[in-house]
Amino acid sequence: MIHPDTELRYVNDVIGYGVFATQHIPRGTITWVRDELDQAFSPERIARLCELYKQILGKYGYVDRRGHTILCWDHARFMNHSCEASCLSAGYDFELAVRDLRPGDELTDDYGTLNLETSFLCACSHPQCRGRIQPHDSSRNADRWDEILRAAFPSIRQVPQPLWSVVKEKDEILVASSDVSQMRSCRFHHVAIDSVNPVNA
Ligand SMILES: [Zn+2]
Repeated sequence: MIHPDTELRYVNDVIGYGVFATQHIPRGTITWVRDELDQAFSPERIARLCELYKQILGKYGYVDRRGHTILCWDHARFMNHSCEASCLSAGYDFELAVRDLRPGDELTDDYGTLNLETSFLCACSHPQCRGRIQPHDSSRNADRWDEILRAAFPSIRQVPQPLWSVVKEKDEILVASSDVSQMRSCRFHHVAIDSVNPVNA
C-alpha cells in the first residue's frame, strides 16, 4: 500500500507513469508496505500463465526473497527506478523515505534491490547513475543502502506514519529505530537461488 499523500502522474513517453508526492513527506516516513491485497505468484504458477499475464508481471512485479513475484494492487506498481532512490527497504516488508520529499518530488526505489533477473540500461541522470542496472547490484550496493537506511531509521518514531496500521514488524522496527545496529539489512530481501530454481534445491 502506497502512502496516501502520493499520486500517479504521466512523466513522458519513455518513462511512462511515476508516483509523486502531493504533500511534504519527511525522511523516515514509511512510504509503502507490502499488504494483504498485494498478489504473490510462485514461479510454478507463473509458468502456467499465458504470455500476456507474464508480460504484465514482468513489467509491474518484483521478486521477493522467496522467489515469488509480487504484484502491488495500487499505484505502488508504477514506482520508477533511480540510482539515487528516494525510498529504500531495509530487511522488512516496507519502504522508507530516505530523504525529505517535497510536493511534486518523485518516489523512486532502486530496482537493484528487487532481485532482478536481467539487466537494463538506466537513464535516471543522477551523477551516481550506474548506467546498467544488474542482478548483482544488490550485493555490491547493500552496504551503501544499509548506511542510507540507518541514517533514516531513527526518524521513524518522529514523523507521521499513516501506514503504521498495516506494518507487520512493528516491534522490531521500534527497536531498530532506537538502536540502528538492530536494523535488519536490506540483504534480507536477496532471493535464495533455490527459491527460483526449486529443481536445484
Ligand atoms: Zn541510474
